[in-house]
Amino acid sequence: MSFDTLGLAAELLRAVGEQGYSEPTPIQRQVIPAILAGRDVLAGAQTGTGKTAGFALPLLQRLNASPIRNGRRPIRALILTPTRELAAQVSASIRTYGRHLPLQSTVVFGGVKINPQIQRLRRGVDILVATPGRLLDHISQKTVNLSQVEILVLDEADRMLDMGFIHDIRKVLALLPKSSARQSLLFSATLSNAVKQLSARLLNRPKLIEVTRCNATAARIEQVVHPVDKCRKRELLSHMIGSRNWRQVLVFTRTKHGANRLAQQLERDGLSAAAIHGNKSQGARTRALSGFKHGEVRVLVATDIAARGLDIVQLPHVVNYELPNVAEDYVHRIGRTGRAGNQGQAISLACIDEHELLRHIEQLLQHKIPQVVLEGYEPDPGIRAEPIQNGRNGKRRNGKPHPQSGNPLADRPRRRSSAKRPAGKRRWESSGSYSAQRHR
Ligand code: AMP
Repeated sequence: MSFDTLGLAAELLRAVGEQGYSEPTPIQRQVIPAILAGRDVLAGAQTGTGKTAGFALPLLQRLNASPIRNGRRPIRALILTPTRELAAQVSASIRTYGRHLPLQSTVVFGGVKINPQIQRLRRGVDILVATPGRLLDHISQKTVNLSQVEILVLDEADRMLDMGFIHDIRKVLALLPKSSARQSLLFSATLSNAVKQLSARLLNRPKLIEVTRCNATAARIEQVVHPVDKCRKRELLSHMIGSRNWRQVLVFTRTKHGANRLAQQLERDGLSAAAIHGNKSQGARTRALSGFKHGEVRVLVATDIAARGLDIVQLPHVVNYELPNVAEDYVHRIGRTGRAGNQGQAISLACIDEHELLRHIEQLLQHKIPQVVLEGYEPDPGIRAEPIQNGRNGKRRNGKPHPQSGNPLADRPRRRSSAKRPAGKRRWESSGSYSAQRHR
């Protein structure tokens, strides 16, 4: 199926062609016609499925079909995202896809000066991408008016709820035209009950679109767990990066402090590393991300919130230095790799304390993740599990030794690792995952 059959305008098809997309992804095939037809949409799409173009292309087309001819442009489309990085990325995508249309857009998020944003808003924009907190700042300063919004998009709605944005979202909704007078689109990696409840309030007879099973991980991500003692994780990580000559690796820690410490330790090991988390200034976050994308920073150490929505083209490796407390975060973390036609590798370093977290992740995925004990890094069978603090699964460990003797993570056969990544053009397969085709 080609993009031409979706009913998109020539200017948009041109922009899509310039991006090198040869055919729409499964979510795009379903979402684009529904949005063009004016339907509200509730879409469950895992990370890296092309959902941004899925809503951006038809949104641009609908706004362009009814241009405002006189006076200052009112905000006609509002896109809310949970994080600053995602807001910046969505805004960049809007600019890319809309580059041949006469529409104006901008992005507002916190952590940077508000005045340049106010000045940009004063000049008038058709499309506003925003994080909820900064949008409310603008609302309180009366620098945005949402009364003429025709299209509302909530991107990564599940994460917005996780991050406690529900009150902010409610305040924003109260300022929009009522749901029957606007088009509303809600995207979420997981369609939890909370997301469904939100959608019931927000959407008007929505079309439900789900391209993959909830919580499915991208088929092209090779996953593996390396059981290792906690005290040897850093050493193993440096060893893997160095001996396997990884040039770009995103590493997740559970805490901001842990991210800082690990980045410093890796630097001491001679690996260029930077940390990205919520306590860093926006400038530091942008610099770290840009250095990582451009190959100056080899290891980016991140917490979950900061890494949410990062789209790094061809990111080959994600490492869970610590498993996440919330199993869904594992899906989001590893979704940073294996995007858009590339294969990816997701490696988890799991110590005995994390056995329970691993079990929750495997329950969510509905399959076991292969385990490989690396030579020289075998876990010490004498080490006992310790309680994990701040567990959010409601199941803190009780500190008692694990009933199994030895390391429960180390009881599976060793496995050899995998194939090389094929090079080539990006194409979406009907199975729902990207494949890379070799050009001859
Ligand atoms: P998203 O899920 O929106 O974050 O998109 C993930 C990645 O897929 C981005 O790098 C997009 O540039 C890329 N992408 C989106 N649509 C297509 C397509 N039809 N063909 C190939 N790549 C795409």
